[in-house]
Amino acid sequence: MANEEKEKSVGKQLEEKLLSSRKNGLLKVDADEIEIADAFCEGYMKFLDDAKTEREAVTAAIALAEANGFMPYDPSRRYAPGEKVYSNVRGKSLILCVFGRNSLDCGTKILAAHIDSPRLDLKQHPIYESSDFALLKTHYYGGVRKYQWVTIPLALHGVIFKADGSRVTVNIGEDENDPVFTITDLLPHLAQEQSKRTLSDGIKGEELNVMIGSRPFKDDDVSEKIKLNVMKILNEKYGIIEDDFISAELEIVPAFKAKNVGLDCGLIGAYGQDDRVCAYPALKAVLECDNPADTAIAVLTDKEEIGSVGPTGLNSDYLRHFLESIADNADVPAYTVIRNSKCLSADVTAAFDPTFPEVHDPRNASYCNYGLAMCKFTGSRGKSGCNDASAEFVSGVRKIFDDNGVIWQTTELGRVDLGGGGTVAAYIGNMDMEVVDVGVPVLCMHSPFEITSKLDVYMAYKGFSAFIR
Ligand code: MN
Ligand code: MN
Repeated sequence: MANEEKEKSVGKQLEEKLLSSRKNGLLKVDADEIEIADAFCEGYMKFLDDAKTEREAVTAAIALAEANGFMPYDPSRRYAPGEKVYSNVRGKSLILCVFGRNSLDCGTKILAAHIDSPRLDLKQHPIYESSDFALLKTHYYGGVRKYQWVTIPLALHGVIFKADGSRVTVNIGEDENDPVFTITDLLPHLAQEQSKRTLSDGIKGEELNVMIGSRPFKDDDVSEKIKLNVMKILNEKYGIIEDDFISAELEIVPAFKAKNVGLDCGLIGAYGQDDRVCAYPALKAVLECDNPADTAIAVLTDKEEIGSVGPTGLNSDYLRHFLESIADNADVPAYTVIRNSKCLSADVTAAFDPTFPEVHDPRNASYCNYGLAMCKFTGSRGKSGCNDASAEFVSGVRKIFDDNGVIWQTTELGRVDLGGGGTVAAYIGNMDMEVVDVGVPVLCMHSPFEITSKLDVYMAYKGFSAFIR
């Protein structure tokens, strides 16, 4: 027999009615949903291991898309509701589209996430010999805290286009039997001078040199014996010569795989979660989207980390061109499709860090396990450079999340005037489209080992699915 519930005081009733409450998402969902979230994240962790570069993410996403009935987009065709296509943007970005029941006059629903991540790119003349070692010169890509990239196992991924135009795909350091690479740092015993540097200068850009070999090619007539030996190994494996580095895109990334973090396995630690932690849920949402009302699109884009530049970044016209093409084929003005489309700019946000609470406004920060985070505006100083989503659109997205059991929260990227950042939302907004940032909170963002919560990853998928349904 249950005890009679104590009647709530008037103040308590008013408090519940009028005031916001915030609660750990794991206390709001049942055990079944936590199990579903954990299972979803197994697929996500595999995707992280398979796709450490933008090109690898495109390849992995196309394989999943084709397995789910998606066909390459044919710009000369008119498509019927329910048909599923993908458009490969120069091998580095990808558009997936499921045609909706409604006319394109109504616009489309777009999920936009990025698949490039901070890393160390090889320079055009990378390989050199120094003090009986062969090393690679790098130039970091995106916002990297350089001191985090030394003394860890590193892998080499990418493509080389030889002088005859033939392509070589490189992936060394991921297989259990592969060697890995690393960047050296000083021993504490001899680091007195280095330790006086500021943290941002602790390791300098020109010190991010990757160790690639140590054994000489024995021939007294050769001056750079270790470099030659490394080139010989590369030539035997890939048929390349030193000049082929000029037309290559080779990326140094952490060699370790995605791991469960914590005794309760509630967190995921991995490289490249910014922004594959939104790209994978967006991809899955569209792959599993059957017969949506409005045409549903996922854009997995390159170059966000360096400003969305170039023909594979969202500051180019590639998304507009795709929308124009489907509009033309449906005899609808492209500007009508674009103007009536709505977009979730799906990108990560900074999770509240218990060790560095001072960088956050605790009332407006996002927290791990509190769900998908909506960020009305990003930018720096006075919201400079951001898309500030309209209250009308935020209201609509809020209702979709609430009506569909999505655990979600709001976020702002750190304290005012402390720093800041931007996303693709600004470029999508500039197309004349409603857009708001939503994404997964991340600890140690841009580090070699970024941390997310499994519940939040699953809530991203749930929220994105509800938005495009
Ligand atoms: Mn990002
Ligand atoms: Mn980023």
